[in-house]
Formats: sequence, C-alpha cells, structure tokens
Amino acid sequence: TERTFSILKPDATRRNITGAVNAVIEGADLRIVGQRRIRMSRAQAETFYGVHKERPFFGELVEFMTSGPVVVQVLEGENAVARYREVMGATNPAQAAEGTIRKTFSESVGENTVHGSDSAENAAIEIAQFFQASDIV
Ligand code: ATP
Ligand code: MG
Repeated sequence: TERTFSILKPDATRRNITGAVNAVIEGADLRIVGQRRIRMSRAQAETFYGVHKERPFFGELVEFMTSGPVVVQVLEGENAVARYREVMGATNPAQAAEGTIRKTFSESVGENTVHGSDSAENAAIEIAQFFQASDIV
C-alpha cells in the first residue's frame, strides 16, 4: 500500500463538487486518510509548483491556486500514485479519458479540478508540506 497527495483545486470548491470528486476517488479504492480545507497562500502555491516557475503559465497557475479554498488530501491504497493519476485523467481535460475526474468535471487545462503527485518520492515531500503525521489516520 502507498500514499499520494491530492488537491481539490479552487474550481472544485467554487462549483461545490468536492463530494462528487471524493466519490470518484473512493470508487477507485483510494482511501482518504487525511483531509483539510485551506486557503493556500501565495508563498505555499509558489513553493508547491516551484518546478514550473519558468513555464509561461506559472503566474496564472499561482493566481488560480490562491483564488479560493482548496481541499488538501492524503490518499492511501495499492499503487496509489499511479492509480490516482489514472483516475484524474490527462492534464488537459480535452484529452482525458472517459470516466476520469478531469473528463467529467474540468473546464480547461488551467482549471483542471485536481492535483495528484507524479511519484512516490514527490508524494512524501508534498504530504509533508501540508500534513503533520498525526493528522493522517
Ligand atoms: P498537477 O501537477 O496539478 O497534478 P499535472 O501533473 O497533470 O497536474 P503539470 O504538467 O504538473 O500537470 O502541470 C501542473 C498544473 O499546471 C496543471 O495541473 C495545470 O493546472 C497547469 N498547467 C499545465 N499546463 C498548462 C497550460 N498549458 N496552461 C495553463 N495551465 C497549465
Ligand atoms: Mg504535476
């Protein structure tokens, strides 16, 4: 069993679909073992997406991630990292497979509803950015 880090992005809280997204997560046999609704600070968003800071969309991405509340989560399950990436679907919802979260719910590549870690190593780093061990149960 493995853990991954998830964010339900501001477009999800704005549209009041966090429960619907969680139903898809749980339907994929991923267990929500940590969950908190927060407002991300600019500094947190810039650190979190630091690998993208030279990309043309970085400013827009930070603006979006701080534009409203997000739900940060720790998901647990077998091959959780890869499984969640599969359930999320492609970054661009127009290219996402049928039944994925982004295909079902997302409106654009910028506002694509969910984040999921891209490796177990990054999952551990990202989880530590937002959770204390005692808040994962
Ligand atoms: P995430 O890291 O959020 O799980 P991802 O791994 O599928 O998504 P990345 O390449 O890491 O995709 O990009 C991070 C985020 O930056 C994307 O989820 C999206 O919100 C935003 N993004 C990526 N490409 C673009 C783009 N061309 N225009 C606008 N925003 C983009
Ligand atoms: Mg990514």
